[in-house]
Amino acid sequence: KELIVKTNFSQYPIQIGNGLRHEIGSKVAHYQNVLIVTDKNVAPLYLDEVKKSFSSQQSVASFILPAGEASKSMEWYSKLLDACIAENLDRKSLIIALGGGVVGDLAGFVAATYMRGIDYVQMPTTLLAHDSSVGGKVAINHPEGKNMIGSFHHPVLVLYDIDMMATLPHQEVRSGYAEIIKEACLDDQELFMKILSIKPGELIENQGFPQHLYKGMAIKASIVEIDEKEYGVRKYLNFGHTLGHAIETELGYGKITHGEAVAVGMLFAMWVSERIYGCSLPIQELKTWMKHQGYPIDDWNELENQALISRMKKDKKALDGMIHMVLLKEIGSPSVQAIDEKALLKHLQDFRSEYL
Ligand code: NAD
Ligand code: ZN
Repeated sequence: KELIVKTNFSQYPIQIGNGLRHEIGSKVAHYQNVLIVTDKNVAPLYLDEVKKSFSSQQSVASFILPAGEASKSMEWYSKLLDACIAENLDRKSLIIALGGGVVGDLAGFVAATYMRGIDYVQMPTTLLAHDSSVGGKVAINHPEGKNMIGSFHHPVLVLYDIDMMATLPHQEVRSGYAEIIKEACLDDQELFMKILSIKPGELIENQGFPQHLYKGMAIKASIVEIDEKEYGVRKYLNFGHTLGHAIETELGYGKITHGEAVAVGMLFAMWVSERIYGCSLPIQELKTWMKHQGYPIDDWNELENQALISRMKKDKKALDGMIHMVLLKEIGSPSVQAIDEKALLKHLQDFRSEYL
């Protein structure tokens, strides 16, 4: 399956299928000099197979990062630049990001800045990376905040071999599926209903999985095409992220996956939507489904409401003391709402006491 993403300056294909890791070499045969960036978990599983797909005419080096968010740092950014220089990469060379969002964000930022920008390919190996590999946002973290140093730099190709999902830990699968649910909430009621019919423990085993992934990416791509730099509709992609980010940072990274925190955030955003718009959303159905799938929706029980609200205020969506939240009028129709701090605190208290 192929999707084309059109941006202001470029156009690139997203190819999704089985066994594509064996085809990457021939798809980028016109690059002489290639650096594959991956991490310690992915390398033993897939690096050799990816390397084997290249011809002997091409020079192919690799760089292996420690696994995890800590690699999106100045230190690893700098080491990776050193490797680019050591491997003699020039403006005609290619970087391949073989991994999850961490590898994609770091390798993409290096590609964006090395020699004022060189080409790169995203080969997502996590389900969550269906989201991070599309849209061109690349970044590293600063001790003061996530994704504080970054750029917009689109890949020349996204090659998604879904066979690589087979080795993903369950919580990473749940994390990625939560973002597909988010995309469904923004634009596709039918997709939302289909996902809710997936049986417990069959997220990637269910027959519809490739289709769900494809549709999720198509929704993300269409939003990014309209609003590359996040002045308008791209904000909708933050649905579930206001409380989600707050939970993620308050608990401490690594305690809950990003998507699992966003899953709770979506329940809350739907709950606030019902209060503000008087609409009726399938919150109970979604919550029950999440529980059956093993989403840790109670893991944040110990967190203080006030601490969570303070986090939400620090979020880049907060302007003039108001917190801007993405809400839904119905599944498929999002809207951004400014809510003041006190009102939001009340919603959070009520949500936790009445709902969870
Ligand atoms: P990740 O890259 O850390 O991968 C999660 C874990 O799975 C890691 O331990 C990794 O080694 C392991 N792994 C990866 N592929 C595997 C496989 N096929 N089999 C077994 N294990 C595998 O995390 P992630 O969830 O993919 O991405 C999170 C990052 O993405 C965050 O830094 C976030 O900021 C970023 N992100 C960026 C965007 C964007 O638009 N650029 C959007 C969303 C998220
Ligand atoms: Zn997210």
